Amino acid sequence: MDFTVDAEFQKKLDWMKDFVENKVRPLEFIYDYDKDAAYDIENKPLRKVIKRLQQEVKDNGMWAAHLPEHLGGSGCGAVKLTYMNEMFGTSAFGPVVFGCQGPDTGNSEILAMFGTEEQKAQYLQPLLDGDIFSTFAMTEPQGGSDPTNLRCVAVRDGDDWVITGDKWFASNANHASFMIVMAATDPTAPPHSRATMFIVPTDAPGFEIVRNIGFWTDSPNSGGHPWIRFNGVRVPDSARLGPVGEGFKVAQSRLGGGRLHHAQRTIGLVKHLIDMMAERAVSRMSGGEPIGNKQAVQAMIAESYIEYMQFRLLVLYTAWMFDQQQEHGREGRKMISAIKAAMAKIAQDVTIRAVHLHGSHGLSNIMHFGEYLAVALHEGAADGVTELHLGAVAKQVLRDYNPREGSNLPSETTFLKKAWAEKQLKPILDELGLTFDDGRADIEKNLPVEKYNLKPVSA
Ligand SMILES: Cc1cc2nc3c(=O)[nH]c(=O)nc-3n(C[C@H](O)[C@H](O)[C@H](O)COP(=O)(O)OP(=O)(O)OC[C@H]3O[C@@H](n4cnc5c(N)ncnc54)[C@H](O)[C@@H]3O)c2cc1C
Repeated sequence: MDFTVDAEFQKKLDWMKDFVENKVRPLEFIYDYDKDAAYDIENKPLRKVIKRLQQEVKDNGMWAAHLPEHLGGSGCGAVKLTYMNEMFGTSAFGPVVFGCQGPDTGNSEILAMFGTEEQKAQYLQPLLDGDIFSTFAMTEPQGGSDPTNLRCVAVRDGDDWVITGDKWFASNANHASFMIVMAATDPTAPPHSRATMFIVPTDAPGFEIVRNIGFWTDSPNSGGHPWIRFNGVRVPDSARLGPVGEGFKVAQSRLGGGRLHHAQRTIGLVKHLIDMMAERAVSRMSGGEPIGNKQAVQAMIAESYIEYMQFRLLVLYTAWMFDQQQEHGREGRKMISAIKAAMAKIAQDVTIRAVHLHGSHGLSNIMHFGEYLAVALHEGAADGVTELHLGAVAKQVLRDYNPREGSNLPSETTFLKKAWAEKQLKPILDELGLTFDDGRADIEKNLPVEKYNLKPVSA
């Protein structure tokens, strides 16, 4: 495993660091960390500024780095993408300026994989060019964690499909040109064959935004995660993305990349919080010394740093697996769930420590911790709740183990292991003409098989 980058790419990263810090991040402050602002297609002056910045990214060969070159990206691979995405830790504008914002990243991947030539020309190309935004609508108001229970249905009517039902937290639907919608097409089929994907333009008759929804930090009816409704929206069969009944397969193929990208950005969020904590620790005085001299504060900074380094390596390892095309295998799926669960925990823990270290500043509305905390907490919910990902990791780990047969004593029980150990070492002792006859090495020569209801341990 090699996480280093070549000198040429390092130069690009150096350019990017300066560009993000000095030209992209200022937009966050102008727009008060409003995550929705980056997607606001009605804000013409802002769109012009973004277009101008996007051109600089394209000129530097870093546009849409998550996609291979034949799909219009710069195709740098997942490890290198980690070093890029981690620069967007606190930035909603960063991914938009670099053409790698969710949910468009995942949508472009499934359009490339499952789309017809017409669908690619109509939707994928303008998406790749950064001219439009899109939405992925799977979650429903009655529950998101169990997508086998979809109530939004698509019913076949001649050459058309008629879609009826609600979706929830459909990110960017208020700015999108089209949505990829997962609807139940056969509620009686086995759970994972019930749904199909459709591409629905947002100007389709019968499509409605019930209301806009955001984080706590957004004012009412703003945000970027609307509750949407399909009132008998009619689309032709040519709007179907992938085969009938294979909506889950299509959805699964986009989720892995999206989770990795989130984890990569979380590295940056955590690093930014550690930088803020460190500045505070060496600047804020208490009892005649910087608070960074206090052991309790040092522990907060050290624990955050250690967790950050562990998490960064975990994400780099997972990215390396993507580069080996192993993300759809068992180990790949396990690692994607592992980073998904880990990112929520580290983001939440470090954000809370950073708020605490900043005292009243931390809780005030002259800092942006509210937005950071919302982002950190959302990581435990969006793209599958933490409980589901922990369950997925445990399931994959446990698949490598068999139940112990023949005894209800753990296989590491000392007196069982000692008998086994003696057997293992006997050939060497025989060769050397020795015995372990020193008292410490005594073993229970004749295991009381009947008493313990045991089978003797085999070598
Ligand atoms: C900022 C943001 C953006 C989003 N963007 C999109 C988007 O673009 N498109 C989209 O389709 N969806 C989107 N979502 C929705 C997201 O996918 C759902 O929030 C998520 O799937 C969880 O569903 P839920 O919110 O209905 O929570 P619920 O399913 O109601 O879960 C609530 C809680 O119940 C418990 N729980 C539920 N099921 C289990 C289980 N099986 N085992 C153990 N505990 C369980 C957990 O504690 C969980 O946190 C977004 C969400 C957020 C917050």
